[in-house]
Amino acid sequence: MTIAIYPGSFDPITNGHLDIATRAARVFEKLIIGVFETPNKPILFSSQERVELIRKAVAGLPNVEVESFGGLTVNFARKVKAQAMVRGLRMSADFEREFDMAMMTKKLYPELEFVCLMSRMEYQFLSSSLLKEAASLGGDIDDLVPKHVADALKQKFQAKT
Ligand code: ADP
Repeated sequence: MTIAIYPGSFDPITNGHLDIATRAARVFEKLIIGVFETPNKPILFSSQERVELIRKAVAGLPNVEVESFGGLTVNFARKVKAQAMVRGLRMSADFEREFDMAMMTKKLYPELEFVCLMSRMEYQFLSSSLLKEAASLGGDIDDLVPKHVADALKQKFQAKT
């Protein structure tokens, strides 16, 4: 069986992430979305909340699973017996970072293939961090995330004010 992981912070999942997951799920027999428990940046949603938001978003994709993980991504890939790691590439922002990550991943786990899918035009400028900024200021983010994610963002920011 071809198994791929799609790792990230997903704080929270956006339509850009969902598009990459949907397309990767057509290529691989099983896709496991891996949620970094403790990313190296400020986090709005707990790892459990992020997992639940993703599970609801991918409920219609039968070959997609969601798990959280800590430590090295390659160890997570080994644990779930993945042959590939999927990442999304936006036009300018991601290339250098993803290239470095691909080189390091290859060094640590040579059998794992690093597969980048290009972001669709409409999601090229969508990131979780910009989304959170817009949502925190009351911006309309309804087109950029699934409905339950928009609701969760509104609740978070209401609770904070
Ligand atoms: P990280 O914490 O690793 O930066 P993110 O949760 O921000 O991860 O994103 C996970 C993956 O999804 C990364 O490969 C990132 O480039 C990709 N991604 C993020 N936003 C988009 C988008 N709008 N379109 C396509 N891919 C995206």
